[in-house]
Amino acid sequence: MDQPLRLLIVEDSTDDVELLIHSLRSQGYQVLSVAVDTPMSMRAALEGQEWDLIICDQSMPGFSAPAALAIAKELRPDAPFIIVSGEIDLNLAVALIKLGAQDYVQKSQLIRLGPVIERELRDAKLTHRHKLAEDRLHESQELFRAIVENVGDLVAVLDTDGSRLYNSPSYRPLFREKDIRQGSNSFLEVHADDRERIKEIFRRTVATGVGECAEFRFVLKDGSIRHMESDGHAIRGADGKVSKVVVVSRDITELKRVEADLREMAATDILTGLPNRRHFLAQLEQELARVRRVKAHCASILMLDADNFKLVNDTFGHATGDNVLRHLAALMQNELRKIDTVGRIGGEEFAVILPGAALPAAEVFAERLRKKVAETPTAHENGLIPLTVSIGVTELKASDASGGDALVRADRALYHAKECGRNKVTVER
Ligand code: GH3
Ligand code: MG
Ligand code: MG
Repeated sequence: MDQPLRLLIVEDSTDDVELLIHSLRSQGYQVLSVAVDTPMSMRAALEGQEWDLIICDQSMPGFSAPAALAIAKELRPDAPFIIVSGEIDLNLAVALIKLGAQDYVQKSQLIRLGPVIERELRDAKLTHRHKLAEDRLHESQELFRAIVENVGDLVAVLDTDGSRLYNSPSYRPLFREKDIRQGSNSFLEVHADDRERIKEIFRRTVATGVGECAEFRFVLKDGSIRHMESDGHAIRGADGKVSKVVVVSRDITELKRVEADLREMAATDILTGLPNRRHFLAQLEQELARVRRVKAHCASILMLDADNFKLVNDTFGHATGDNVLRHLAALMQNELRKIDTVGRIGGEEFAVILPGAALPAAEVFAERLRKKVAETPTAHENGLIPLTVSIGVTELKASDASGGDALVRADRALYHAKECGRNKVTVER
């Protein structure tokens, strides 16, 4: 099948044009040609459409092969340029090839033209493909750069030992330039307590090719600590082995802080700042588990209720009542050891866990606390507001099904204390 060939012929002799076309047709080309013989008409032709090939006579009146070649290289640098001439000036031919012409053929040897064209078209196709691949590579590199250099995330490319090959510009405000330069050890900026764990994850990613997500801390150049969350991605070389690891890290310090605040808020009573009921009950379950697990370990709890608190509100107002509750909470915290837990479990009800305290010791402590509260009224603009508390005491038992069982006992003891006239400590075994 004839091969279509979009051919621009730069030639002043119509006979030679005919001859050329005829020869190419006989060599199997379906020639679609235009002939030009002036710089202007050549420019117009080149600008007007794509060309597979340019064939050019060596000399023409008012035009020449060097001038035509210059125009071709300017407008269609990828189109092969072949000189076809009656008389070949060898020096000129060599000079033209140096300037970018592909070949020359004598008019008396037009039979050579077919193979030359075939070769040039093949080369042109390869060059074109190569250029496309290069363009694509360049484009994807630009894309990568644009993404990596404009995201807030920290992007690091590491070799399989964890040495740095690349760090995104987002690293610069955080670390000293010398610490993050190429070839440096990427684990050094990881907090010492996290380093071995992160190294292990990195080794696993290199060994398995499966990236992992990890949380760790970075120590910055000013010594401050930032919490990071990072994803590792293994990059495989042509041999299929992991050759690099891309690590993308995000600063989650703020997130961590908000999380911690939320956790604390969810566990804290707003009025007094003490653990709330939910948090206290969770602590109580933990303590009970310890009592069950460790034979020698004992613990007691107190349940404490403000006496006639309604009267405080009725006399001084609810806002002052709040202050009295805060005062009571602070007083209790002050009396407790570090290991004890006090929580606000109701309106004017509190409970205390005393780890390591058997019932007698707990009773002594409760009595001391009762006295302290009674002796320490809340200061108020119009004087002092006295308050007493009733306290129920019980010991956690390994046989308790839950902390709730012990709370029920303590509540019963508290009820007795109220019945016995308030401002009392009562024990239930
Ligand atoms: P008792 O000695 O029998 O415990 O008498 P009481 O008055 O303390 O008990 P009662 O249960 O009748 O009333 C409790 C009062 O505590 C009523 C309620 O308005 C008040 N109270 C509960 N929570 C708060 C609070 O957060 N702030 C203030 N100011 N008062 C509260
Ligand atoms: Mg009360
Ligand atoms: Mg009450």
